[in-house]
Amino acid sequence: MPKFLHVRTDKKPYNCTVDQLSEAAKAKPLQEYEAKRDFTKTAEPQSTVPNSGETQIFVVQEHHARHLHYDFRLERDGVLKSWAVPKGIPKAGEKRLAVQVEDHPIGYASFEGEIPKGEYGAGQVIVWDKGTYETKVWNQKMVEVILHGERLKGRFVLVPLKKGGDKNWLMLKAKN
Ligand code: MN
Repeated sequence: MPKFLHVRTDKKPYNCTVDQLSEAAKAKPLQEYEAKRDFTKTAEPQSTVPNSGETQIFVVQEHHARHLHYDFRLERDGVLKSWAVPKGIPKAGEKRLAVQVEDHPIGYASFEGEIPKGEYGAGQVIVWDKGTYETKVWNQKMVEVILHGERLKGRFVLVPLKKGGDKNWLMLKAKN
């Protein structure tokens, strides 16, 4: 029978290995997001503020981390599905590598500011574009959306690459 010994105050919750986590914890969305951040130090949102409306939102954040990149986020299943696009959002006919990162809370869509030095993703975050979108296709082989933003409008497609692990996707803008 398991027996409680003492609280390991020398360890952080994310030092637990997966098999030590409860089923409830495994099912918790945003666990990876929260584990990577110290909310006593960063002003990034801690939990999801559910979107009240029916329309789904997207956001692109210009992130001046160690390497400048653009974070492309789509609201889906109560979180922001997220990809880091190192070379910027593609224009019509272009393709760009998009690296899938951990789901972010919905409230992150309006986050702007400085993530402090030493924290995960340290550097300036600016909302580069924001708006609503329609889903045309969303499955394991393809995500196709129509963006209605200030800068970004039209049909964008994300396709997972077979090479380079399951985090690497290709993002492209359709010509029409
Ligand atoms: Mn980022």
